[in-house]
Amino acid sequence: MRKKSDLPTKTCPVCGRPFTWRKKWARDWDNVIYCSERCRRSKS
Ligand SMILES: [Zn+2]
Repeated sequence: MRKKSDLPTKTCPVCGRPFTWRKKWARDWDNVIYCSERCRRSKS
């Protein structure tokens, strides 16, 4: 049985906050590192 709260999570290395799987990342989850476009850009 799957719960809605059973979604995978990762921790963003930029802001340090955990973020949860989103449907828009369904095909790309393995490549998702940052919680948002903003963090992705502020990396460098
Ligand atoms: Zn972040």
